[in-house]
Amino acid sequence: MSETTQKETLGFQTEVKQLLHLMIHSLYSNKEIFLRELVSNASDACDKLRFEAIADDSLYEGDNELMIHVGFDKEARTITISDNGIGMSRQEVIDNIGTIAKSGTKQFLEALTGDQAKDAHLIGQFGVGFYSSFIIAGKVSLTTRRAGSSEAVRWESEGEGEFTLETVDKDKHGTEIVLHLREGEDEYLDGWRLRNIIHKYSDHITFPIMMPKMAAGEEETAGGDEQVNKASALWTRSKNDVTDEEYNEFYKHVAHDFEDPLLHVHSRVEGKLEYSSLLYIPAHAPFDLWDRERNHGLKLYVKRVFIMDDSEHLMPSYLRFVRGVVDSNDLPLNVSREILQSNRVIDSMRSGSVKKVLDALQKLANSDADKYASFWSEFGKVMKEGPAEDAANREKIAKLLRFASTHQDTEEQSVSLDEYISRMQEGQDKIYYITADSFNAAKNSPHLEVFRKKGIEVLLLSDRVDEWLVSSLTEYDGKTLSSVTKGELDLGELEDEEQKKQQEESDKLFEGLIEKVKETLGDKVKDVRITHRLTNSPSCLVVDENDMSANLERMLKESGHAIAGSKPILEVNPEHPLVVKLNDESTQQRFDDWTNLLFEQALLAEGGQLDDPASFVARLNSMLLELSA
Ligand code: ADP
Ligand code: MG
Repeated sequence: MSETTQKETLGFQTEVKQLLHLMIHSLYSNKEIFLRELVSNASDACDKLRFEAIADDSLYEGDNELMIHVGFDKEARTITISDNGIGMSRQEVIDNIGTIAKSGTKQFLEALTGDQAKDAHLIGQFGVGFYSSFIIAGKVSLTTRRAGSSEAVRWESEGEGEFTLETVDKDKHGTEIVLHLREGEDEYLDGWRLRNIIHKYSDHITFPIMMPKMAAGEEETAGGDEQVNKASALWTRSKNDVTDEEYNEFYKHVAHDFEDPLLHVHSRVEGKLEYSSLLYIPAHAPFDLWDRERNHGLKLYVKRVFIMDDSEHLMPSYLRFVRGVVDSNDLPLNVSREILQSNRVIDSMRSGSVKKVLDALQKLANSDADKYASFWSEFGKVMKEGPAEDAANREKIAKLLRFASTHQDTEEQSVSLDEYISRMQEGQDKIYYITADSFNAAKNSPHLEVFRKKGIEVLLLSDRVDEWLVSSLTEYDGKTLSSVTKGELDLGELEDEEQKKQQEESDKLFEGLIEKVKETLGDKVKDVRITHRLTNSPSCLVVDENDMSANLERMLKESGHAIAGSKPILEVNPEHPLVVKLNDESTQQRFDDWTNLLFEQALLAEGGQLDDPASFVARLNSMLLELSA
């Protein structure tokens, strides 16, 4: 008999309540996954104990045959899942079961639509694990004792906002979960049914999953236990022996995802170093992809023994969405996080794995454009961090990048640099791009006018990360990436000589005007010059080749950086009627207003902010009045 202490009743965190409600309603079409989730947790718990016991084998308490038991009781209408893994302390139970510490949970819940199919999909990305027991259970009782501790605790809940905790006795370390089935869920009180579910989802679990022996062809158990899964590490098996279903189920276990992955890469390296890796690209980005605190997703094993989750040393940050396992034959079992920081074996497994992932993505891009497009829309923004972070693979990553461009003029990022190059004009030696803070600002920028006229494609970059990208990716395939808003427009051989001569002559006519405009604008600008990059607009702003782009400057300022900022250069279009008129006697008394407007509208057109908007409005109004007079 257990000696119990007073029961304590605690409330679920609001988020948990909402999630529980959602679980039950959106996942009921796939109820059987409760078992997969509980077995997955039991397996994680065994992994953790085995790892901790490397340093202190007294934690085993003499019981080192780690395994998982699944049983059922027809009379009591219960299913029991137990493990002799690490177990949980009282505080761990409170922290892990009943609270959701994951950052971004609130936003996640706000994103839910009430549409069952969509919500089920979102929940899948969230990975609600343990709570899936409430899909079939009206009451769940979890009894656990952390290995090495004497205090055991029982957690019980009906999944409706509250749970109780009480101190109990428990002989074995580990966790036992009893599901009291809801009315109408009796189909799960069947040894064959449970075996089937285990076979379908949990065959890859590396610890034995035991069930009461069944007498052949009978419903009743025959006494004694038997192992119902293969229990061999999937990643150590030969590729030919593993089915897609097995790969997919293993993914769900390691990635804590509910959906199938987009692709997997399974490989074994032999020779000086020996390791196996099984890496996955998820189909969808997790909702906390942008949470910098979030750890990376690879599990490190050493000779089949789990060492740690989330080893950030195994994947660079721009591939933080990759999930899976890397299993080394060369590291010592007692490897510590400190050792991992600078370790030859880790470094070479990491570079090998990165290469595998990049190659697999390239293969996907070549063979299945639709699938690649879906990958890009989920993870493209993260991949764009790659060229800055991983100089060694810059060219490889650059090949995988996709952009919007003036070729289709749609927001969809589907143009590769190779495709761009294949469309380059004769005489074109640069890859042109524009950065702006929105797609429309990029697409409609006055800077593109001459490029559109000449049919030269320009990449339209409007993700925040793009500025960072172009600062590190300055060249591809021997061609410079060149911003159309920087420096003097130099179309090189794309300009025809005749036109150039004509322009130089017309420029002379405007020399006086340019000086006057410069004087009027004073220190608002660095310089004023005639431009031939515009066709429809009277003016635009550019920055010097080596200055920060106006877009980057705005981004930095918005994020609270105090930066000096560089002054822009005003370029005016000598063919525009407004500029022609400005060179005319008749406009001289309003010269100041006209000039300032030329400057201000150029600033606005590229998404900049006016220093003195009220004066701008006053100027505009007085000119409109003049017009209508
Ligand atoms: P996840 O597995 O994605 O972390 P779960 O909801 O499945 O989420 O589990 C929540 C946490 O509860 C786990 O991370 C683990 O810390 C703890 N837990 C669940 N089941 C067990 C178990 N059988 N033994 C020890 N800890 C467990
Ligand atoms: Mg889990």
